Amino acid sequence: MHEQPDQAQVHGEVDRRHATAPPDVTDAGTEAEAVVFVCATCGVPLTGPLTRLPAVPKTPYYAWWDAEEPGPSPATVPSGRYAIETEPYGAPLVVAEVPGPVMPRHGVHYNADGKPLLSQGPRGNIVINPDDARDLELRHVSAACCGATPDGGMNQLCACGTLVATLCSDCCLPYELHLSADHVRAVRT
Ligand SMILES: [Zn+2]
Ligand SMILES: [Zn+2]
Repeated sequence: MHEQPDQAQVHGEVDRRHATAPPDVTDAGTEAEAVVFVCATCGVPLTGPLTRLPAVPKTPYYAWWDAEEPGPSPATVPSGRYAIETEPYGAPLVVAEVPGPVMPRHGVHYNADGKPLLSQGPRGNIVINPDDARDLELRHVSAACCGATPDGGMNQLCACGTLVATLCSDCCLPYELHLSADHVRAVRT
C-alpha cells in the first residue's frame, strides 16, 4: 500500500515532462489550433472544435467477445481530437496479392472465393471519435450485426442529403468516424 504514493509521484513527473515537450519540438501554433469540420456542400458544422493528433492512435485493446452486450468498442481517437488516415480506407475492396489487413486497424477479409481483400478506398480521411459528430444520419451500405462497417464505403448522410463520412461501429471493429476529405472543409475557430 505504501508504494502507491511513490508511483503516483513518478507518473506525475513523466506527465509534466510530456506536457512541456510539444512547444519545444513542434509548431504549437498550428498543432494546437482547433478546427470545426463543416459539410463542403451546405456548410453546416459536422463536429465541435477539434485539435489534431500527429497520427491515428493504436486501437485500444477491447475484448469484444467477452462483452456482456454487443456495442461499439472504445473509440480509437479521443474526444476533441482528430487525426489523418494516410492509408486507403473503405470501399472499394479488391483482391490482394498477399493476405494482410484489409485496411488499417482491421483484420484480414476474404471474398466468397477465399481470396484476401485490400482496400483501394480514399486516403486522407479525417478520423474522429464518432461521439464528436453532429447531425449525421446512418445509411447502411454493408452488412453488420449491430453497428456499421466501412466495407461498403460512405454511410453517413449530412442533413443536406450528401454522403460525407464513414462510420465504423460494429461490436468487433474499431470505433471510428472517417470524414471524407473530399466532402468536408476545416474551418478555424
Ligand atoms: Zn451538407
Ligand atoms: Zn456487432
